[in-house]
Amino acid sequence: RNSALNAFGGVKVDVFVRVRPRLELESGQEECVSVDPEENTLELRDPAGNPATYTYDKVYGPSSSQSDVYDDCVSPIVEQVCRGMNCCIFAYGQTGAGKTFTMRGDLSSNENQHGIIQRSLSHLLRRLHEHEYTDIKVKCSFLEIYNEELEDLFDAKSKPSTRKRSTRTTNNLVLVDDEKRGCVCKGLKEMAVESVPQVMSLLEAAEAKARYSETKMNKLSNRAHRIFTLIVDFKRYEKPVQATLTFVDLAGSEDISKSGATGLTAREASHINKSLLTLGRVINALACNERHIPYRDSKLTRLLSEALGGVCKTSFIACVSPCSGSNTETSSTLRYAERAM
Ligand code: ADP
Ligand code: MG
Repeated sequence: RNSALNAFGGVKVDVFVRVRPRLELESGQEECVSVDPEENTLELRDPAGNPATYTYDKVYGPSSSQSDVYDDCVSPIVEQVCRGMNCCIFAYGQTGAGKTFTMRGDLSSNENQHGIIQRSLSHLLRRLHEHEYTDIKVKCSFLEIYNEELEDLFDAKSKPSTRKRSTRTTNNLVLVDDEKRGCVCKGLKEMAVESVPQVMSLLEAAEAKARYSETKMNKLSNRAHRIFTLIVDFKRYEKPVQATLTFVDLAGSEDISKSGATGLTAREASHINKSLLTLGRVINALACNERHIPYRDSKLTRLLSEALGGVCKTSFIACVSPCSGSNTETSSTLRYAERAM
């Protein structure tokens, strides 16, 4: 591996790890993760008590707050967006590790619990106005990729298909290569937003739609990738600038073909996981400086190819549980995050 290049072909990727607090349902388990926030190291002890130590750009322990995570990891990224740079933040980890909590928090609770989406928007709006840019417009979109099918979470009208699992849904979303923006999802709704409460109600409506479609189509919600994008337009010295800030709440990283509890065959399980598997392969191929990077092997990697290997500031937040019951998955998440650095 060429150490001058990072996994993403040259633009430095920051990798953060966040350990969430122990949940009530884990009360019988021992804690097997400890963090050193000064050194940015994390120690994971295996069932025999043997420690393994990992180092990242930043590690957050169970007591870290939503604003702690925002202030050092995300706030510098928003400053880049204000300069016209495209940026992308991934949340990776097993189901229940805290990805959605980190991205958007609990929608029903107070401002302290707001995730990085709400915090980024409010910071962005404030800074764009401070810069005295003109013609400022912020829009957002919310795409779901499930089983290699695209769904617009902001389009209340596009009812999910109730046909069998293997047939295609009936919306008209399609990935196309755009000269200026790279790969984009054509047909995806872009909603103008001017405030955090507006985004909160959009996210709530999207959540309701996702839940409906999960029940109706018997979807496994933890297998969906959710891609929320802020699209910012403004004029700087009369010149139009566009930048995007993308938040990717990835499907749970656990191997569902191993858990066997889902009623899926191994083949179905691997298909449903295709985007996540391809993401791993893309990261590896970039890390090894391979000539062929398999972006086009999945919808997720194709859509995010610019974020993964192009001119884009990309960050990874790996989320883990502190408890021994998750030891295997935590170890796999930590190794995955290390490769992305
Ligand atoms: P994921 O999206 O990775 O499946 P969630 O974000 O839904 O996981 O988190 C699982 C549960 O843990 C939720 O009830 C959530 O509120 C809680 N949780 C996650 N991270 C934290 C945290 N840092 N502090 C407090 N509670 C958390
Ligand atoms: Mg989630």
